[in-house]
Amino acid sequence: MIPFSPPRIDEDIIAEVTAAMRSGWITTGPRTRQFEKMLCEFNQNPATLCVNSATAGLELALRWFGVGPGDEVIIPAYTYCATANVVLHCGATPVMLDVCPDTFNIDVSQIEEKISACTKCIIPVDIAGLPADYNKIYEIITHEKVQRKFTARNANQRKLGRILVLSDAAHSLGALYHGKPTGLLCDITVFSFHAVKNLTTAEGGAIAFNLPEPFNNTEVYKYCSVLGLHGQNKDALEKTQGKANWKYDIMMPGYKTNMTDIQAAMGLVELKRYKNDTLNKRKQIFEHYHKYFDNRDWAILPISNTPQCESSYHVYMLRIRDIDEQTRDALIHEIFSLGVSVNVHFQPLPLLSAFKYLGYRIDDFPVAYGNYCNEISLPVYYDLNSELCNTVCEAVAEAYKRIVAQ
Ligand SMILES: *Cc1c(COP(=O)(O)O)cnc(C)c1O
Repeated sequence: MIPFSPPRIDEDIIAEVTAAMRSGWITTGPRTRQFEKMLCEFNQNPATLCVNSATAGLELALRWFGVGPGDEVIIPAYTYCATANVVLHCGATPVMLDVCPDTFNIDVSQIEEKISACTKCIIPVDIAGLPADYNKIYEIITHEKVQRKFTARNANQRKLGRILVLSDAAHSLGALYHGKPTGLLCDITVFSFHAVKNLTTAEGGAIAFNLPEPFNNTEVYKYCSVLGLHGQNKDALEKTQGKANWKYDIMMPGYKTNMTDIQAAMGLVELKRYKNDTLNKRKQIFEHYHKYFDNRDWAILPISNTPQCESSYHVYMLRIRDIDEQTRDALIHEIFSLGVSVNVHFQPLPLLSAFKYLGYRIDDFPVAYGNYCNEISLPVYYDLNSELCNTVCEAVAEAYKRIVAQ
């Protein structure tokens, strides 16, 4: 059976994790700080905080900006539930938008009409690793007419003076937009290092700060790091440094979102080989699939490169022309029976009970629904060699022949 997305656990990872364990320091410490520094170098942004998940990172960012009851946050309907859940955790309302037919990313042409005096934040999602249209988003939110609508309710909101752009970049570490890395495209960018993501620390995430003047990103980093450690003004490592440095204060009732050095140990190895090894390999797999499916008139290829963007090649979201949801499900069943694990990214949120219950209706998101109905995500992982890629392609083609073309 070809798996969908196993992690790359080799001797290098095991050696670094073991070294962290033998070092006597396993929670947040030197390895986490080094990983943060390397992430800043990778993305060229001024400060990055590692956390225990992208979900935690998104919520910390919203909390830092003071998003709460009565506020609205614009998100795409086509995403993983985390994007909406963090907004709900803060007591705010997710305002969902439909997506582009060709890229699965938020349809920026619909943003302006959804902005109200309550809008505090937009969370674009770089689906499959392809960056959303950030230039267009900034053009909209900094337009005088839109900016005048913004109602600041606290110091950070007054300082920014406009809607916050918070990127859900769970898929897009290493992607490029107009030549820039994803950590530099908006105010705050959150990455995921969950086990199935491009770079993994088992569970984990990072918040890349790139706030404009007059914000001091290092100060925002420090504030969020305290906010993510119960509001405690010294972390565990600081308390062990100096002779009797045991006393601390709790500055606010914070959360518990810090990354451990065991996670960071994996991250250090993964990031070192990320650009030249991991991303190259994923790109090759995408190219293999592109080449095979380009010759089939029933296949709609996912967009991984445009004149503006290069993807991080996270998910290969193949679509099958003119099939309905039931046929897609039957195809997936057939592909599995041929020994290949595939997946669907994603069920648009209004199809899920929690969001239906809140009143979201799939009929309001026809493009998201249409894209979902005929989507099949193919395996992409480091050890998927060209022979295995062929097996995947042939399984899809054979399943199509049996189910659709018989
Ligand atoms: C995986 C994922 C998340 C959540 O990441 P975690 O690190 O598991 O919290 C958020 N958004 C999207 C689009 C994802 O795919």
